[in-house]
Amino acid sequence: MKLRSSNIEKLEQGTFDVLIIGGGINGAVSAAALSGKGAKVALIDQRDFAGFTSQQSSNLAWGGIKYMESRDFGLVRDLCLSRNHLIENYPSRVEEIRFFSTIERGFRFHPLFIWLGTWVYWLIGNGFTKPPRWLPKKAVMAEEPVVKTDNFYGGFEYSDAYLHDNDARFVFQFVRSAMDRGCIAANYVESLGARREEGVWITRARDAISGKELEIRSRVLINATGPFVDDHNKASGEKTEHRHVFSKGIHLIVPQLTPQHRILTFFADDGRLFFVIPMGVRTCVGTTDTRVDSPHSEVTEGDRQFVLDNINKRLNLKKPLTKADIIAERCGVRPLVVKSSASGNEQDWLQMSRKHEIDVNQSSAHLSIFGGKLTDCVNVGNEVSAIVAAMGVALQYPYYKWYGEPHRSVREEYLHQARLMDLDSYTSPESIETLSSRLWRRYDQQALELLADIREDPRQAEVLIKGTDYIRCEIRLAKQQEMITKLEDFLRRRSKIALVVHKENIRNASGLMEACEILFGVQAQEKYDEYFASVA
Ligand SMILES: Cc1cc2nc3c(=O)[nH]c(=O)nc-3n(C[C@H](O)[C@H](O)[C@H](O)COP(=O)(O)OP(=O)(O)OC[C@H]3O[C@@H](n4cnc5c(N)ncnc54)[C@H](O)[C@@H]3O)c2cc1C
Repeated sequence: MKLRSSNIEKLEQGTFDVLIIGGGINGAVSAAALSGKGAKVALIDQRDFAGFTSQQSSNLAWGGIKYMESRDFGLVRDLCLSRNHLIENYPSRVEEIRFFSTIERGFRFHPLFIWLGTWVYWLIGNGFTKPPRWLPKKAVMAEEPVVKTDNFYGGFEYSDAYLHDNDARFVFQFVRSAMDRGCIAANYVESLGARREEGVWITRARDAISGKELEIRSRVLINATGPFVDDHNKASGEKTEHRHVFSKGIHLIVPQLTPQHRILTFFADDGRLFFVIPMGVRTCVGTTDTRVDSPHSEVTEGDRQFVLDNINKRLNLKKPLTKADIIAERCGVRPLVVKSSASGNEQDWLQMSRKHEIDVNQSSAHLSIFGGKLTDCVNVGNEVSAIVAAMGVALQYPYYKWYGEPHRSVREEYLHQARLMDLDSYTSPESIETLSSRLWRRYDQQALELLADIREDPRQAEVLIKGTDYIRCEIRLAKQQEMITKLEDFLRRRSKIALVVHKENIRNASGLMEACEILFGVQAQEKYDEYFASVA
């Protein structure tokens, strides 16, 4: 909590070049890009970083093959290039993965048409990934016996990418990188609205933990509050060309349905694409796409049944999936951009693009970020930096590369040290990957500090929370570096424990209280009770 309280004190000192409100993917990349290029940046979020939409995605970095149906080829091209760029720059975090799809007899498109579509998609993405492959029934039965082939015309495989850990951790890594470059960030600090006085924005904010109110001064204000962009603009008197409408999507996390490391793709009963996504020892299934009016959404009985029915209809499972198999649920709204003048009727809904838009008010030095995707995050960071520079904020290092994993030589040195100390011999027998690769992916160069901790005291390599992969020194690092304010921040976002372990098993896991003591000191019991009261 030290990092957070000292940052909250600093928020009130002096005038920042830029204050970013909202620490989802759009706010996090804006902070990482601007602080890396030399601006004096502050970032606040009313919840935890990535605590709203950005923790509810399908975890895909993808070109959006489905947008080809609405002929949005420009968007598909942009997203494919962004996906390629992420794969290149995050070799351990964003991985190419095969998508395995079947076509049922009587489907609305001829199979040849869909097969050709996968080649067009591959070409639009510059042929960067492995090429598509046609799969006759025999090949599907041999390679993926879990897929039902009764009403089957054919199958095919193509590539996209996915976030190996989880979306929320991916976002937090940008926040961490921003803080390493001088950004003053704090979670659980809500903006109550902002006013502009004598060329400076004064944002009134409230620390949601202590209740204390504060004022933050900045030359530029960036509204990156995701589904709340319109509400915040109202509170600060900003008018924009665009606004948001919302589409709800849910995912269910269930026991592993297939050991193969690929994403199964189906057309659900409503004709939309539907995924079975590997999540370590679990499987994540979804998603849905329902128009809603409020950013606050929840999984309904109808949503659950829709997902379970679609899975049971298309997979050969030993016994059908039921509600009792659900380990965790995810639910969020996609903030989609429309013109402020749009009526919001059905026609607008169908035509709506999934692109992001940044509305700029030059005279008040205000930016509003609408829409967007995790896939497109590097472009958002670069565009925001260019706009802020054009507003007169001096960026001392305009060409600084603010994203990407460290240079290959750092990774080689890490792996060399890991081999010399035989790090992988500490890998837990329950783990599905070696300790050396997991630690690198999660912490990159900070993993070198973890090696030093383990060399000094081998107990630091013991799994601390039984039933998870997390070792003692990771929790220590998390306490110092990851601004964990509530237990949920660690269990749901810095790690994905709450997504893959039943809540009763978490409660009973030996080692959880020791983890709380490391994270929260004398407040351990209070934070433990707060978490289990909130997930009851
Ligand atoms: C079901 C689903 C599946 C998706 N799948 C994918 C996918 O596979 N790939 C992909 O690329 N994209 C996907 N997306 C889209 C992507 O997740 C979102 O577009 C993106 O996360 C939006 O990020 P954001 O930063 O705009 O919003 P958010 O993540 O919601 O961030 C906004 C932040 O602002 C904070 N905030 C709000 N009001 C205030 C205030 N007054 N003061 C301070 N803070 C405030 C909130 O707490 C929140 O953390 C999916 C979305 C959904 C819902």
